[in-house]
Amino acid sequence: MDEFSLIRQYFDVRPLPGHVARGIGDDAAILDCPADCQLLVSTDTLVSGVHFFPDADPASLGHKALAVNLSDIAAMGGRPAWFTLALTLPEPDESWLKAFSASLHKLAESSGVSLVGGDTTSGPLSITITMIGTAARQKAICRDNAAVGDAILVTGALGDAAMALRCRSNDIALDDANTAFLNKRLDCPMPRLEEGALLARYASAMIDVSDGLSSDLGHIIAASQVGAELYAEKLPVSETMQQAARRAGIDDAEVLSMVLNGGDDYELCATVPQAQLPGLLSAWSTALAPVIPIGTITAQEGLSLHGDDGTVQSLNSGGGYKHFNE
Ligand code: ADP
Ligand code: MG
Repeated sequence: MDEFSLIRQYFDVRPLPGHVARGIGDDAAILDCPADCQLLVSTDTLVSGVHFFPDADPASLGHKALAVNLSDIAAMGGRPAWFTLALTLPEPDESWLKAFSASLHKLAESSGVSLVGGDTTSGPLSITITMIGTAARQKAICRDNAAVGDAILVTGALGDAAMALRCRSNDIALDDANTAFLNKRLDCPMPRLEEGALLARYASAMIDVSDGLSSDLGHIIAASQVGAELYAEKLPVSETMQQAARRAGIDDAEVLSMVLNGGDDYELCATVPQAQLPGLLSAWSTALAPVIPIGTITAQEGLSLHGDDGTVQSLNSGGGYKHFNE
């Protein structure tokens, strides 16, 4: 199977929506963007052996490669619209391509995004998606605008993906439902698009939690030149995560460390001015992932963790995953 028949069979799926004037098949795509909008552009790469095991399920990879890029647009409060796919494959394995492309197209369709181009090369397996979204002019939410006194909120729960990885590598057995829940959290994260759009109406700053809360909130406070205090007992931990911890003999301190530093959750972390908080919480719908206040932005720089018992611990905001770490 050559490059062009591969593209035609697995990636050039039509019809495309009206705002794609030209999709796959020319030297470049032609996109119609709304006049009153700004474009948001974001790229993420998944590399075999770094982001996933070489024998990873292709259906999970198709979903995850797209999900992590959708999550970046969600974190800006934008609406994702178009994406390109640069795929490097060791060989044109048709069963791999079939599973990969089916899950990619499925999430693309449910998220309202269109594949408009890409590149296909041979080499070690690597998947790069560039996502283009839109936001109303001056309405995208950046990292550098958190202010002292703002509430810090997070969607969903934290640490599930880290626990999924731990269960997998340490052979920790849970019942089927809990295993499926954790695997889904790690392999098939659902980008918080609706949540991001609603948060954007109230938030001063926002980021997605891809490297771990301490790292990602760390980016907000560094960019905004403020600090943050987190309330340990408020941090959202799923029932499954707690159960898995008990089963594996992982103590509370270790669970807390997974919640603070574990990557791959793709939840959103936003800062919201106190005056906006009641409006946000009453606009929140039960159809969305829950949103929970977990802390406050402070003038005192750095990140600290406060317990109900009055203990205060200063946190290293660099606890999450980093490439090129010594
Ligand atoms: P060029 O030689 O101009 O770089 P290519 O031969 O690489 O073009 O690609 C032909 C067409 O197929 C282009 O429109 C390109 O955007 C698209 N394309 C290539 N690979 C992919 C892919 N993996 N997914 C989607 N579109 C792709
Ligand atoms: Mg090319």
